[in-house]
Formats: sequence, C-alpha cells, structure tokens
Amino acid sequence: MPKLNEHYQNLKESYLFSDIAKRVNAFTAAHPDKKIIRMGIGDVTLPLMPEVVSALHGAIDEMANAASFHGYGPEQGYDFLRGAIQGYYAGHGVSLDPDEIFVSDGAKSDVGNITDLFDVGNVVLIPDPVYPVYVDTNVMDGREVLYLNANAENGFLPMPNPDIHADLIYLCSPNNPTGAVYTLDQLKAWVAYALEHKAVILFDAAYEAFIGDDSLPRSIFAVEGAKKCAIEFCSLSKTAGFTGTRCAYTVVPRELTMRASDGETLSLNRMWLRRQTTKFNGVSYIIQRGAAAVFSDEGVRQSREMVGYYKANARLIADTLSELGIRYFGGIHSPYIWMECPNGMKSWEFFDYLLENAAVVGTPGAGFGVNGEGYFRLTGFSSREQTAEAMERFKAILK
Ligand SMILES: *Cc1c(COP(=O)(O)O)cnc(C)c1O
Repeated sequence: MPKLNEHYQNLKESYLFSDIAKRVNAFTAAHPDKKIIRMGIGDVTLPLMPEVVSALHGAIDEMANAASFHGYGPEQGYDFLRGAIQGYYAGHGVSLDPDEIFVSDGAKSDVGNITDLFDVGNVVLIPDPVYPVYVDTNVMDGREVLYLNANAENGFLPMPNPDIHADLIYLCSPNNPTGAVYTLDQLKAWVAYALEHKAVILFDAAYEAFIGDDSLPRSIFAVEGAKKCAIEFCSLSKTAGFTGTRCAYTVVPRELTMRASDGETLSLNRMWLRRQTTKFNGVSYIIQRGAAAVFSDEGVRQSREMVGYYKANARLIADTLSELGIRYFGGIHSPYIWMECPNGMKSWEFFDYLLENAAVVGTPGAGFGVNGEGYFRLTGFSSREQTAEAMERFKAILK
C-alpha cells in the first residue's frame, strides 16, 4: 500500500460556491417567478474577439494540411508567441528576453506548479483575503503559511513587515477578490524587502489589462531589481476571454539565481525550463496562434474594447455604491468591487438579504479568508443590461 501525501488532509474544504448554489436553488424553488441576476461571476462572458477567431480558423486550416501541419511544439511556447509577449512588455517599458517567457495552459496551473522549485521548509507569506490557489498548493506540499492582513486600514494592500521573515511571497495586483492595485512605490517596498530577505515574490498579474492609469505598474518588473527576486504569472483568461480557450505565460528572469546548500548558484529560469520540459508538453499550436493575435495592433484594440466593457460595468456598480454611501474598494482598475456590507451585516447575512430582497447574487467576502468577513464581492462580468438592472434593485432596497 503506498503511503499517501497526507498533507491533503490539511486542506480546508471550500464550500463557498456550493453553498451559494444551494441557497440560490432554494430561493428559485420558493420564487419561480423572480428573475435572478448573477453579480458574483468570476468568469468572462463575452465571446472571443474577431481577431482571435480568425487566427484560430487559420491555424486549424494549417493543421489540416501535411505541408503546414504541426506536431509537438517547443514546451516553453512557439517563438512567434513569445516574441509577441516580449513586444507587449516592451510596450510597457519592461524589456525581457524570449527565453524568460514560458507559455502555458493557465496561470492557475503555473502558480500551483511553481512550488516544485522550492523546498518544503520555506516560509510562505500570503495576504488574506486571497485567491485560494496560493494557500492550497502550499498546504498540499506541507509548507508553513503565514498570513498577511489585508484590510480597510491598509486599503487591502498590505505592506511588508521587516521583522517577519518569509522566503516566498504571493502578491496579486490588481487583486482578486478586492480589486485593489499596488502603486509603483508600494511594489518597490516589496522588492526591497525580498532582496533584503533573499525571498522570491510570486506576482500574479492576471488582471494587468484592467489597469487604465500609466503610472500604476502592470508588471512587478517595472520595479528595478525585481528581476533578481520575482516570478510573474499572467494569463489571457481575463485579458482576452481565454478562460475556456486556455493560454497563459510565466516570466522567470535569468537574473533570478539562488545559492544552493552546496554553494553552487542555481538559476530558477533553468530549473523551470527543466521542470516544464519534463512535466509539460506545450500548449496547442492552434491556441498559440489565437493567443498571438491578441498582441497584434488590432488584437490589442479589440481586447481593450472587451476589457473596457467589463470595466464600464464595474464603474456602474462603483458609482451606484458611492451614491448609496456604501464604502468599497477596487472597481476602477479591476472587474472586481469589494464592498463593505451595509449596516454592519456579516458577509452571509448580506448575501441572504440581497437574494431575498433583490434577487441579486454576489460572493460573500468571508469565503476568501478571515479578513473578508463583513465584505462582499461583486463583478463587472455580467452584461451591461443585467448590471444596470441589478443596480436599480440595489437603489430600491439600500437607499
Ligand atoms: C482568473 C485568474 C487567473 C487566471 O487563471 P488561468 O488559469 O490562466 O485561467 C490567475 N490568477 C487569478 C487571481 C485569477 O483570478
């Protein structure tokens, strides 16, 4: 009998989305005539943009022809896509070598798989509330996790504490679930901490495309010195509606090296390359062609339009909450609005109140961590019409 990885027993069961479904189903059964509006969606809803669709069609035709057929591709991605990503970063003032870019099937898998490079003895620092993948993948390996409080006092943007040592730090900006975005100075402080503690920052930039202010950093590598202490994860899921299409990329700088216990200098870039070439066989040629189209001039224009649609929904929610005098975070450079539950209600209390009185569904903040209690996540991923209708219902019950 094999001895199992019993760290799995330490995982907390998350009932968040099944609990939501249960309550919504009960409500629908009791009120079959009420039209529910879902404002808790964490998935995109607009179809793929024309530039991507036409690239996908073209790639399928290539695959149908012996002369242009593609079998296994390079595990780290085709040059045409890595070159396109390199150009995209250069456009935001970050210069990367294509060898530092690794194309994958998702930021979620890469964020989870990156733990392969690190010993279980490392101390991991994770903000709370948080995207659950960071915590669970470390618990699966048996690593010690320290939580960092994100709260209203720090604008849900916790800063490093010089007295607490961590080896690995997870940061997500613009943040899911809070929508908060670190400024360049704040990221500079994190990079300084990481360099001082010889720590590695695992930076999740899945929502960088939602940043609409050039003074806010879209990449941790906008900070000088970050290439010596950070790995960045990004994805086309939210940028271009690829949640069901699957394509992402991870940047592991060549300057990111660490001294091994035998004194040898190890390159995390080489280690990740070795890990990927061993355990991963690359993203489909067809999908990589679709992904490259996102970075063409027309692709960038169309993806801005798509992101702009969700942002306008988020703005509508934010403006309504302002009008109602309800405090919130996010909603500007993010599809997420993190609102304080009105009248001191707890997260689930407000969930039930909103469902019963307005037939609107959101996500209770308590589901994202201890500091999420008393907060509620709304998203801009619904249609404009549904968002507008939901906001009318908010006004009717919360005025
Ligand atoms: C949606 C999301 C991702 C993207 O994951 P994919 O696997 O690329 O779809 C990554 N991080 C966060 C925080 C997200 O919300």
